Amino acid sequence: MPCLTELPDGYRELKQLNLQDDKKTLLIVNGLAVALYLILFAIAFIIKPFDLDLITIDLIVSLLTCVAFIVYMVLHELTHGIAMKHFGGQRVKYGFTGLYAYAGSDADYFSAKAYIKIALAPFVLWTLFFTVLLILCHKTLYWSLIFLQVTNISGCAGDIYVAYLVSKYKEEIYVRDTGLDVTIYGEGYEE
Ligand SMILES: [Zn+2]
Repeated sequence: MPCLTELPDGYRELKQLNLQDDKKTLLIVNGLAVALYLILFAIAFIIKPFDLDLITIDLIVSLLTCVAFIVYMVLHELTHGIAMKHFGGQRVKYGFTGLYAYAGSDADYFSAKAYIKIALAPFVLWTLFFTVLLILCHKTLYWSLIFLQVTNISGCAGDIYVAYLVSKYKEEIYVRDTGLDVTIYGEGYEE
């Protein structure tokens, strides 16, 4: 079953990750995000260096890029939410912490296979989307699209890290993601 509303008998918490106050997780996720940001911007610059003589900042394009970024954040969470519903999530909800938006569910337990797809759905979908846009519009909107793509990929650092952790379990586990914290349940021993 990809999704349960109650844990099987004998299942207990094996690990909990909280992206707000778990220092080790924060360090890994933010470190990965910054590394991705720097590497991807460096690659973008190598492909198409700034021409310093020709630099003009187009106010309207910059503003639209900011609006696109906010819309993207909402769509990213919506993608998680739709994936959760697709795998049978009954209690999907959306929220905003003041710092970031989230999708989650307090009462759905997803299998590892389903949860990895839920975690990585926005990464796969939106990376593909911005890649297609970059191919089509790189002549006019290169740096705007690079900003959106790089922010998209490095913003997925947390999702990629959690998917990686979940994929490492050999036993059958279930995952609950409230949007604020992720808990892994199984029959094994606590780590
Ligand atoms: Zn995400």
